Amino acid sequence: MSDKNHHDAQSTSILLDAVARELGRKDLRLKFAPRLEALFQEETAESRNRQTIIASLFALVVFNAFLFIDHASRPEIFGQAVFLRVVVTTLPCLFALAWLHRLPPVWARDAIMSSAVLLVTLTSNILLWHSTSQMAHYNAFSFGLIVIAGNIVLQIRFPVAVATSVACCVMSAVFLSGMTLLSSEEKHLPVFYMSAMAAITLIANYRLEKTMRHSYLLMLRERLRGREMGYLNEQLSTYSYTDPLTGIANRRMFDQVLDEAWRAGRLTNEKLSLLIIDIDFFKRYNDAFGHPAGDDCLQQVARAIEAQTRAGTDLPARLGGEEFAVLLRNMDQIQALTVAARIHRAVRQLALTHGRPDGGGWVTVSIGLASISPASDMEPKALIDAADAALYEAKRAGRNRTFQATNNAA
Ligand code: GH3
Ligand code: MG
Ligand code: MG
Repeated sequence: MSDKNHHDAQSTSILLDAVARELGRKDLRLKFAPRLEALFQEETAESRNRQTIIASLFALVVFNAFLFIDHASRPEIFGQAVFLRVVVTTLPCLFALAWLHRLPPVWARDAIMSSAVLLVTLTSNILLWHSTSQMAHYNAFSFGLIVIAGNIVLQIRFPVAVATSVACCVMSAVFLSGMTLLSSEEKHLPVFYMSAMAAITLIANYRLEKTMRHSYLLMLRERLRGREMGYLNEQLSTYSYTDPLTGIANRRMFDQVLDEAWRAGRLTNEKLSLLIIDIDFFKRYNDAFGHPAGDDCLQQVARAIEAQTRAGTDLPARLGGEEFAVLLRNMDQIQALTVAARIHRAVRQLALTHGRPDGGGWVTVSIGLASISPASDMEPKALIDAADAALYEAKRAGRNRTFQATNNAA
């Protein structure tokens, strides 16, 4: 797993723990732990804003539809009603909604919505204040609709919704108390209704927010679990396709990639070359310096081989023991010979001392090389057998050299 993926996997599991803690929390708080809260706000802002804008537009239509009621119940202030509803209230609200569309921070969003609700309450009270007709006081009973809209339809966040509702009720109570035309019942009842509606809709507001947060946590948990499974799978396949000692591909990966290259080569008719590389007298190296030193030698040789290959095109692999392979795609035997020569040089440059029976002082390798055009009828195993046979010849001829297969299709 790459460093970045490792880091992603770690933060996924930390976030999953945070989600589990929030889901287990039984208190009444409408706020997650800071990091989760930020993520929640970030991921839900767009849909929440969209819903708020649509709902607000509907609420504004309803607010202006009250012009019909104004015309019927208090014709003496109709001109003022048009001015206050359309110019003073609706136009600024439309500007505010346009600003909301640009995703302002949560506090600003709350401030806009709260101001809109207060503005509607203010203009409604001013209209009532100036009304002189008998029917006018009935309009005070419609004030409850304002808190309903603010608390349920606009979904202002709970603490702000509480403050806004209180401010609306107090403002209306102050206005109503100063209206000399109204009896004391006509003043008290609308305020009572408005406060009752505020209380009930605040409960709904709280529950809506709580449910929304709970659904978000469940959805996030599913998403994070899915991501975690992805990391686990990746980790599993990395382990099962990598040689743990040297970190390069293992036999399983080699077989799989050879099969794929073979299939692709059949279609494109490209040459495929294979080097099988075996460390010379490695048993003696182990015997002389110990198994850990042998492991270290294997790691160094693996790195030296890998450094001579084209990343992403060739596949260096450890086939087992002290035997390696390099699969060279789209490469003929002449080019492959130069790669083999570079590998001999790179291993020699490691300068790993070795008391060999043939008198040589350094670790060396023998290489068997075979090239093939997979367009022929042969199976991938033919390439391996040919390279193996060449390696055997290289050993027989005295080691520390490359032999080319003679009976392959190159
Ligand atoms: P040749 O030149 O003919 O290849 O002789 P060799 O000694 O290299 O070949 P042989 O097959 O006789 O010995 C291979 C040795 O590699 C034997 C084994 O102990 C050692 N070996 C295999 N796997 C490992 C490993 O993972 N770590 C270490 N340290 N040694 C290993
Ligand atoms: Mg060997
Ligand atoms: Mg061997």
